[in-house]
Amino acid sequence: MDHLLAGYRRFRDGYYAANHKLFEELATRGQRPKTMIIGCADARVDPAITFDTAPGDVFMVRNVANVVPPYAPDGDYHGTSAAIEFAVKGLEVENMVVLGHARCGGIATLVGMNAQAHTTDFIEPWMQVAIPARERARTIAAREGRAADHLRLCHLTEIEGVKTSLTNLMTFPWIAERVADGRLSIHGLYFDITSGALMRLDRTTGIFTPVT
Ligand SMILES: [Zn+2]
Repeated sequence: MDHLLAGYRRFRDGYYAANHKLFEELATRGQRPKTMIIGCADARVDPAITFDTAPGDVFMVRNVANVVPPYAPDGDYHGTSAAIEFAVKGLEVENMVVLGHARCGGIATLVGMNAQAHTTDFIEPWMQVAIPARERARTIAAREGRAADHLRLCHLTEIEGVKTSLTNLMTFPWIAERVADGRLSIHGLYFDITSGALMRLDRTTGIFTPVT
């Protein structure tokens, strides 16, 4: 805890002091971010640092493995869907980004999990949303002759997981409507922690290419 409080004091005396006008303005006029990022809760992947954003720039939700569940207004506790609804209908963001990343623990759980015998209360049921990604990854890995290569399978599932989240975003009727009329665009990115490389998904070809 001391580490956090020391960090807060550095922030207060440094960043906040230098940018207090921005904070005051944001407090007065409210937030008007143009972008929503759906990222992973992983401590190593902080979108505000990766994209060097300022306060007020990005509306963000971080969950296990940057998963977007399908549209399901069924009265359950849909935290991610609630954030998406507020970003789209309340803030009218113009861009939605799903940010995947390398060495994702949630994806590793999905790759290794046994559907018949869950060992976690919430993580495995949550990760089931991304099973289509794992199945596509298995097909690709088998085609490559690397079906038993756990790391390769995880990487492919991370990549395919971004696509599954984008597919599920489009099941929200008010997202599909805004994408169709051009008010909203959706994007897939993938961050490699080790190399610092960022890959961007071409949604037409389904291929990720490095951002130069
Ligand atoms: Zn992750």
